[in-house]
Amino acid sequence: RAQAHLAARCPRRAGPQTMPVSDQAFVTLATNDVYCQGALVLGQSLRDHRATRRLVVLVTPQVSNLLRVILSRVFDEVIEVNLIDSVDYIHLAFLKRPELGVTLTKLHCWTLIHYSKCVFLDADTLVLSNIDELFSRRELSAAPDPGWPDCFNSGVFVFQPSLETHGLLLRHATDHGSFDGADQGLLNSFFSNWSTADIQKHLPFIYNLSSNTAYTYSPAFKQFGSSAKVVHFLGSTKPWNYKYNPQTGSVLEEGSGSVSQHQTSFLNLWWGIYHRSILPLYENILHEDEQT
Ligand code: UDP
Ligand code: MN
Repeated sequence: RAQAHLAARCPRRAGPQTMPVSDQAFVTLATNDVYCQGALVLGQSLRDHRATRRLVVLVTPQVSNLLRVILSRVFDEVIEVNLIDSVDYIHLAFLKRPELGVTLTKLHCWTLIHYSKCVFLDADTLVLSNIDELFSRRELSAAPDPGWPDCFNSGVFVFQPSLETHGLLLRHATDHGSFDGADQGLLNSFFSNWSTADIQKHLPFIYNLSSNTAYTYSPAFKQFGSSAKVVHFLGSTKPWNYKYNPQTGSVLEEGSGSVSQHQTSFLNLWWGIYHRSILPLYENILHEDEQT
């Protein structure tokens, strides 16, 4: 069915065999300029691996104009979402559950109804190879959470935009809250039959490999790690919290003995993209400003 929607609206990424699909998108979210750094590297990694779908980033009003301009150099669409100004029921959901602020913002991805299907990726993920095949999966497909494998991890999931589903999710949030205070708890209780209903909706772990798995189950990592397609820097320390030495191409580890060698190499990959492809965007824009 997707074939019927093929359109050549985006010649920039049209390879000889791969026609871009303009009614499907990779979607991420950044609510501040810090998370924008993650979104930029993620977006660039999708481009580097020749993603054939549109790239969309949701931002909130806190994101600065400079970052919006830079995001627009990597993403096809930068869409502002604002909890407070939105439709009444979002307003209500937000007032009743202010602690779910970022969570409710993530749910906005279901309102992207100009797309028929999307893949959501957290801003702290990094794509290691082409993952267009995810669009053959149906809502809601996701990979198991490493901490509780009967729950899916909400850092990578396939979904189908729908105002009806969005409304139901918001209703669920106001009525039941979220058992972990975030989107993952809410989405797991909403899509509660994920773990048993349809094995096709279980994405292989290589589509959402937590960067510390090498440490928790190293033989499995040795066996399967090289086929990882998406790495997820979940947890409190994000790639942008490290310092990086561009001369050695390596992050500096300050007394943190818990960072494994594999984790370090993922961090170095992240920083390599940041240095090679993202920092020059800042320089270009500052240069353009000087000329006007
Ligand atoms: N996020 C954001 N601003 C925040 C916190 C989270 O934009 O202050 C978005 C961002 O896309 C992030 C996602 O929400 O990747 C989920 O949060 P995070 O990745 O920090 O959670 P974890 O994966 O570590 O559980
Ligand atoms: Mn995350």
